[in-house]
Amino acid sequence: MRILAIESSCDETAVAIVEDGRRILTDCIASQVALHREYGGVVPEIASRKHIEAIYGLAEQALENTGLTRGELDAVAVTYAPGLIGALLVGVNFAKAAALALDVPLIPVHHIKGHIAANYLAYPDLEPPFLCLVVSGGHTMFVDVEDYTKLRILGGTRDDAAGECFDKVARLLGMPYPGGAALDRAAQGGDPSRYPMPRPHLSGNPLDLSFSGLKTSAVNLIHNAGQKGEQIVIPDLCAAFSEAVCGMLVPRAMLALEQTGRKTLAVAGGVAANSRIRAALQRETAARGVRLCMPPLSLCGDNGAMIGAQAYYEYLAGNIADQTLNAYATRSMEGEAL
Ligand code: ATP
Ligand code: MG
Ligand code: FE
Repeated sequence: MRILAIESSCDETAVAIVEDGRRILTDCIASQVALHREYGGVVPEIASRKHIEAIYGLAEQALENTGLTRGELDAVAVTYAPGLIGALLVGVNFAKAAALALDVPLIPVHHIKGHIAANYLAYPDLEPPFLCLVVSGGHTMFVDVEDYTKLRILGGTRDDAAGECFDKVARLLGMPYPGGAALDRAAQGGDPSRYPMPRPHLSGNPLDLSFSGLKTSAVNLIHNAGQKGEQIVIPDLCAAFSEAVCGMLVPRAMLALEQTGRKTLAVAGGVAANSRIRAALQRETAARGVRLCMPPLSLCGDNGAMIGAQAYYEYLAGNIADQTLNAYATRSMEGEAL
């Protein structure tokens, strides 16, 4: 089954064609990052307009890359939630029109389920159940993937997402948006012990976490140094911050493995590209005999292929939409209703 998959939830317009949920035939992405950079973050209105400009050409390019004709597409899938509402609506409307014109099923896909499904592309033998650490620009959570379409959130951040914090700290250090990857690079060789960072403990669910205190503490440190005219040792601060995020995520991922008894840990989302987090996960899972799945960096950030992968399993589960499909800025992936 060949699925044309559309993703436009944030600042990447992406169109892919994926076969049977596992094989990428083409994965076309038009990133708007450079445009938003001058504002230090994504400007929703600009994002929507750029999606409109890019989407049709990308779909044409996807067909050209694969040599497929329109008649050889079996379904159209689209990210319908969560994300920037105007941006999502561009993809949803394009997908509705395409499904209608091609007379094929329309498959709505939750963006975070898509991030998790990137693992099916990277590891063709991977099947649920498994545990997934989702760390992206807007989400940080531990998810028990009981089945392809049945996912349970075990815990996660109560305030900011890990990616947001990386971007905020990077921005204050003068790195261009989105600064997560630049901060990661700057941390290489840094001494994480120079700047002590708080590790907040929350009452209640031990798998819940909070990043706002850590973020504020890094922000204050930078501001105070600025006021006193002191130089921040950037590699050391980046290493300390990355280490603190890592120290919050990795032990909880191990706890989630213990709680669920799962023997496989997958990671998903843009922050899963972080080198320190990847190294720590490798170390800790190896020590426990747990299989670790980490998609290549190209599949960690937003892309269309991950939407096509999840769409296949949504289709098999009968989760098809009609022309009344809408987009939603927020929507849980647990027990979602269209
Ligand atoms: P969501 O998926 O929650 O809706 P999003 O789609 O904006 O949010 P992604 O595209 O999955 O998020 O990830 C982007 C985030 O990943 C950004 O915050 C970016 O800084 C961060 N990121 C990318 N590479 C790295 C890295 N090496 N280290 C830390 N953060 C990184
Ligand atoms: Mg993005
Ligand atoms: Fe994303």
